Amino acid sequence: MHEFSLCQGIIKQVAKANHERLDNVAEVSIEVGKLAGVDVESLQFWFPVVAEKMNCTMLKLNLEQVDGLARCNQCGTSFNLLNLYDPCQNCGAFSDYVIEHGRELLVKSFSLNS
Ligand SMILES: [Zn+2]
Repeated sequence: MHEFSLCQGIIKQVAKANHERLDNVAEVSIEVGKLAGVDVESLQFWFPVVAEKMNCTMLKLNLEQVDGLARCNQCGTSFNLLNLYDPCQNCGAFSDYVIEHGRELLVKSFSLNS
């Protein structure tokens, strides 16, 4: 049910940014990092359920996934990290990197009904 509460969080953020209104919001765009530990299918499944509970049944979710990006501490190379425990793609060092991107779930924007 992790994704259920994530949906609530997303919708609450939109309401807050929109003067506590949801009735005039058409669509919310979010960005989910592939390393965020979020089950995207589950998120998309729960979103309309949560939206209905929060009285914004018509609210649509536009979800974009972004790749993980890490910089290796051994060789300094930045590389796409698909799984948290993958080795560096350049030198093969294990789990010795700084994650620069891909662990976030961001509410990017939302659009209002015209
Ligand atoms: Zn490396």
